[in-house]
Amino acid sequence: MTLEVLAVTSEFFPLIKTGGLADVAGALPAALAPEDVQVTTLLPGYPAVLPKLEDAEPACTFGDLFGGPATLLAGWAGPARLLVIDAPHLYGRPGNPYVDATGRDWPDNPQRFAALARVGADLARGLLPGWRPDVVHGHDWQAGLLPAYLHFSGDAAEPGTTRPPSVMTIHNLAFQGQCDAGLLGTLGLPPEAYAMDGVEYYGGIGFLKAGIRLANHVTTVSPSYAAEITTPEGGMGLDGLLRARGSALSGILNGIDLDVWNPATDTALAAPYDAALLDRRAANKQALCARFGLDPARLLFGVVSRLTTQKGLDLLPAALGTIHAAGGATVILGAGDPALEAAFRAAEKPGEMALFLGYDEQLAHLIYAGADALLIPSRFEPCGLTQLCAMRYGCLPVVTRVGGLADTVIDANEAALTMGVATGFQMTAAEPAAFARTLGHVATLWRDRAGWARMQMNAMGMEVGWGRSAARYADLFRGLVV
Ligand code: ADP
Repeated sequence: MTLEVLAVTSEFFPLIKTGGLADVAGALPAALAPEDVQVTTLLPGYPAVLPKLEDAEPACTFGDLFGGPATLLAGWAGPARLLVIDAPHLYGRPGNPYVDATGRDWPDNPQRFAALARVGADLARGLLPGWRPDVVHGHDWQAGLLPAYLHFSGDAAEPGTTRPPSVMTIHNLAFQGQCDAGLLGTLGLPPEAYAMDGVEYYGGIGFLKAGIRLANHVTTVSPSYAAEITTPEGGMGLDGLLRARGSALSGILNGIDLDVWNPATDTALAAPYDAALLDRRAANKQALCARFGLDPARLLFGVVSRLTTQKGLDLLPAALGTIHAAGGATVILGAGDPALEAAFRAAEKPGEMALFLGYDEQLAHLIYAGADALLIPSRFEPCGLTQLCAMRYGCLPVVTRVGGLADTVIDANEAALTMGVATGFQMTAAEPAAFARTLGHVATLWRDRAGWARMQMNAMGMEVGWGRSAARYADLFRGLVV
C-alpha cells in the first residue's frame, strides 16, 4: 500500500537552497517513490519559491497566520508534489531565508517557522478534505515545533481525530532555533507545553529540542553523527535528551541525486566523463585552471563550502603556504564568515590561489570535475554531501574523521592502499599539524599517477546515491504506522 508522507522543510532543491538540507529534502521524494512512499513537501513561500511553483492552485486560506492572511498553494516542482505557504508578511523577503542583508536573523523567525510547523500539524490532522498523511517528517529546527503542535493540540477536545506519527530529522545540531519563553502564547502553544517534557529549553523555547523530545522517532544523517550527538562533546546541550531517546534515535546516511551529480551528463562541465573515460577529466581541470589563471600541471585542491569554523576552514589560510610550497594550487568557492572571507581574500595569489566568494552551483560542479582533491577539514559534520559529490566526480576528498565524513570516505592508509580500496584521505582531528601531515600524504600519493587513478576509480565506484538509505527511511516510516 502506498504510504503518504508529509515532509516539512524550509529548503528544497532546486527551489531554495542554503546547504545540504535542500539537497536532501529535494532528493527524498524521488528516492522514496520506488519504495511506494509518496512524499508531499510543505515549504514556505519565499520569493525564490513562488514563481517556480508549477500549476499552483489555492488549497485553503488562513485569515490570520501569525499576523496576516495566508494561502496554502498546491503545485509541483517537476515530479515533486508541493504545498507552499504564501504568506507575504512572513516570507515575502528577498535573499537568504533566515537572515537580513546584514546577516542578522529576522526578528520574527520564531513566528515564521512556527507558522511552517503549525500548518504542517494542521495538514497532519486533516486540514485538506480527502487527504491525510500517514507519517509527518520534519526537517531541522524550522520544523521542530511540529511534533509539539501535534502533541499539545488537544485531541481530547476533538474525539475521533488521530495524530499521524512524526519523524524529526536533524541535519545539523548546531542550529537549534530558540526564542523567549514569553512568546509561548504568540506561538499558539498552551501553558502546559512549557515544560521539560515539552518545548522548554534552558529557560526559553527550543524548536529543535521540542522536536527531539516529542517526535515518535528522531533520525540524523549518519550513524557516526547519531553516536556523537549523544556525547557531551558533540551534543551541544541536547546530549542528555538524545541519550534518553534510546533506540528512537538512529542515523541514516544521506545520499546525493545521481542524476543531478553525474559527470557523464553534466552540462556544467567542459567535458563529460566517467570512470571508463577518466582521461577526459583532464579537460575539466584545464577549463577550471584557465578560468582562474592556475597552472593545470599543479596538484589542485578545491573547496566548495560554507566558510565557517564548523567546516574547519579557518585552518586553511595558514596551510596555504605548505600547499603552494609543495607545488600545489588551490581554488576556493564559498561564502560565509566575514573574517574568513577576508582571510581568503588576503591570501589570493595569482597562479596559486584563486577565490570565488559567493554561491555558484555551476562552478561547484566544475570544481568537483576539475580539482584533484577536495578539502573538507570539518570540526564536526553531520553527514556532508560535498565528499559524496567529489567522489562521484573522481575528486578525492580530504576530510576529518568525524560524523558522516568518517562513514563515507575510506582513508588511504597502508591497509586500504594494499587492498586497493582507498577513496580519499582522513585526518584524525581538525588541527594544524594533522592537516599539514595529511596534505603532505596527499602530495606524495598524487605523484604516483597510476595509484591516484586507482583511487579515483574506487571513489567513482562508491555507492553515494539514495538507494539503501531510501529503503531505510521507508522501513522506518512503515514501522511507525503499524
Ligand atoms: P552544509 O553543512 O552546508 O549543509 P553539505 O556538505 O551537507 O554542507 O552540503 C553542501 C551543499 O551545498 C553541497 O551540495 C555543495 O555542493 C553546496 N555548496 C556549498 N557551498 C556552495 C557554494 N558556495 N556554491 C555552490 N554550492 C555550494
